Amino acid sequence: MSEQTLADTLDRSTHIAYYRRHLRLLPQPYTSTDLSRLTLIFFCVSALDLLQALPVGTDELSQTREWANWIYLHCMLDDSSGFRGSPGTDSHIASTYFAIATLAILRDDFKRVNRGRILGWLKQCQRVSGDFKGSFAPLLLSNKPHGELDLRFGYCASALRWMLAGEGGSDDYDTGACADFIMRCINYDGGIGQEPGTESHGGLTYCGLSTLMLLNRIDNLTLEQKRRLTRWLVSRQIKGSTEDQTEVFDLGSSGLAAGFNGRVNKDPDTCYSFWIGASLSILGDFSLIDFNANANFLLACTQNRRFGGFGKLPGDFADADTPDVMHSYLGLAALSLSSQEMHLRHLDPALCLTTETKSYLGTLRGKWMV
Ligand SMILES: [Zn+2]
Repeated sequence: MSEQTLADTLDRSTHIAYYRRHLRLLPQPYTSTDLSRLTLIFFCVSALDLLQALPVGTDELSQTREWANWIYLHCMLDDSSGFRGSPGTDSHIASTYFAIATLAILRDDFKRVNRGRILGWLKQCQRVSGDFKGSFAPLLLSNKPHGELDLRFGYCASALRWMLAGEGGSDDYDTGACADFIMRCINYDGGIGQEPGTESHGGLTYCGLSTLMLLNRIDNLTLEQKRRLTRWLVSRQIKGSTEDQTEVFDLGSSGLAAGFNGRVNKDPDTCYSFWIGASLSILGDFSLIDFNANANFLLACTQNRRFGGFGKLPGDFADADTPDVMHSYLGLAALSLSSQEMHLRHLDPALCLTTETKSYLGTLRGKWMV
């Protein structure tokens, strides 16, 4: 790799074929995720956006319209108050986020989206009392918040609020309570846990931090809290903890491969290169990581050159290292945070969409907010 640039080692055409193939037909291992088809579609479509490989010609444009029509036809609720992950399931906050984000990437005109209904439904999903006041449930049951507690749903609600220009409207939810709940999830080590008092976790730290960013409340964090959080995030980059991995990570003259873990004493995993890298990017501290070592981890250790995509862990086509669309998307997204050498579109770290797609949404927001 020493004679190649980093960009040379990203096999773009194989990756593009990988995502297009998965949009046509999902392999058997995805059977158990059938209820989350919209999520899988988002990972593939957004990856093609990063790779600048969405259909652009007139004939090909009919393909993007077909994908958008599928989302409306099979996943939008009859009363337009949200989207389901797959035909026959209930409206879900994550599915609604993935639907709106995917439609934006496909440059849909949003004429079939009922913004008011979705924003009103979101407001109902927020818990307004009790120990978890301010957090979001994933769905409603008898018009009340229902389901597990997870900062991911607060993130989905905040991204939807931004994408659909819900700020300050009559259906806007209590953003102060949402931010307060996240602040209560910050631990002594600086990271953020699932709920107050639980272990700091890379994915949930990203969700909490991005939510504060999207709500314009990042300055709720004190300088000391930011310093501790940055220290915790930077400490997640490791070479590996087992002999096997040390072997895999030895790239000779190419230097060190060092990915990220999501919790203390865990092994590095492709997706945390994004969760941690994007968090540091939001804090303006991305330059503190060893980006080349992380790129080596992704490109030399978890990229699958034969089939495209990225596996979760380093390896050579063992079961655990078979690429999946989530890790494949997040591997690319991590690389795009510093994409000059990769020829990838740049990603907005809080919204997890390309800056081009964010700009398209910005134009729509401008019309909606008049
Ligand atoms: Zn992972």
